[in-house]
Amino acid sequence: MNVAKISRYLVLIMSLGFLLLSSETFSQNGPSNPSLLEINPPDGPSNDMINAIVGVRLIDGFGGPAVENTTVIIKGNRIIEIGAKNLVKIPTNAIVTDGAGMSLLPGLIDSHFHSANNNKQLSTLLKNGVTTMRDPGHPIRFYQAQHFATSKMPRVYVTGAHLDGYPGVYVEQATLVKDSDHIRSQIAEYVENGASGIKIYFRLPLKYIETVVKTADFYNIPVVAHLELVDADDAIMAGLRGIEHVTSFGTSLADPKDAEEFRKAVQENSNNRRAGRYMLWSKIDLSSDRVKEVIELAVKNNVVLSPTLATFEKQFGDEDVKDYEAKGFKNMHEFVGMAHKAGMKIVTGSHNSGKYVKQGFAYQREMELFVAAGLTAMDAISSSTIYNAEYFGTKDRLGSIEPGKLADLILVEGNPSVDIKAMYSIKKVMLNGEWVEDN
Ligand SMILES: [Zn+2]
Repeated sequence: MNVAKISRYLVLIMSLGFLLLSSETFSQNGPSNPSLLEINPPDGPSNDMINAIVGVRLIDGFGGPAVENTTVIIKGNRIIEIGAKNLVKIPTNAIVTDGAGMSLLPGLIDSHFHSANNNKQLSTLLKNGVTTMRDPGHPIRFYQAQHFATSKMPRVYVTGAHLDGYPGVYVEQATLVKDSDHIRSQIAEYVENGASGIKIYFRLPLKYIETVVKTADFYNIPVVAHLELVDADDAIMAGLRGIEHVTSFGTSLADPKDAEEFRKAVQENSNNRRAGRYMLWSKIDLSSDRVKEVIELAVKNNVVLSPTLATFEKQFGDEDVKDYEAKGFKNMHEFVGMAHKAGMKIVTGSHNSGKYVKQGFAYQREMELFVAAGLTAMDAISSSTIYNAEYFGTKDRLGSIEPGKLADLILVEGNPSVDIKAMYSIKKVMLNGEWVEDN
């Protein structure tokens, strides 16, 4: 037996020992918290490459007022200097981009996007301003094509196949959980393969949520969920960090009788959730104490909400929309405004499409809906940048424009901090210090 073989056996024995020891004491002994990474870190230019973006309106992601006439210097893939145009010295070898009339923002981060080995779709997402995305729920094999891409791709964060309960909903995208040991071994395997989050799906019983959270805590990765049957307040008490889809709050906010009727229908047939959600939400009394209490609990536990409103949008006055659907959506929309006002972190997730979405711009529609819900345009920009970076566990590298951060940047025509519609006018995208080629 050669040395390499012996050391491989040693590693195997040690990890078995670790698994045995750790099944009870997972959360106390986790490794220190590294920045969570994408599965496809983009190549960057060499450090000799200097970019200067000159005379631009700076919107740094943190929500403070925009700063006119700013110059930003990028060396290799990092931002190194930011200052007033008349004070920053532009290196002689810099590639200069004139920012007049434009706003410079951090690259957008999408907390909810699904793809399946479709590099063309991801390339479009990038050109429309999204430099980082997370797929909450598709198996990691749905991203193999990434590694063979011939054009630039956004940074891709994955959660592995979502964890669901029998009989499942989208079985080919799910792991149907058998027991707690199964949860631990699956999450270990996901992390080994690049997962930076874990997604719970709506047929996973409440009794397993705590095990999922504890195991994920060990790896310092967040757990996010799409709920229909488990109440959001119960899941939050079990340690859930992220709520995907505003609808996940439905049963916790509704009158208990209505919630029970909805649960029974969905238990019987998962497809009953579709119309059922609008019916349930149309009857929710947003002024009730229950709603107030659930929001308070979520705020207290630092829960992040990725509402994906654009996906559910149904408006009054649209002839294919029924009254209860429009009323249901109106309540979902208002709830997001209330949650924001109470201090809940709202983040932007596009979920690919929606009835009122211009092809490829679900993300922009989501931002518009945030503003219509009562967020300021600047809040909506923070929701799309630094808050999502924090949600992904990577705010030390991404999500804002400041010296030392990676240069994922977008140039937008006009001033989105005043008019969010400007977000549709993405003029140039920089990924990891390099401009993405125009269409
Ligand atoms: Zn989804």
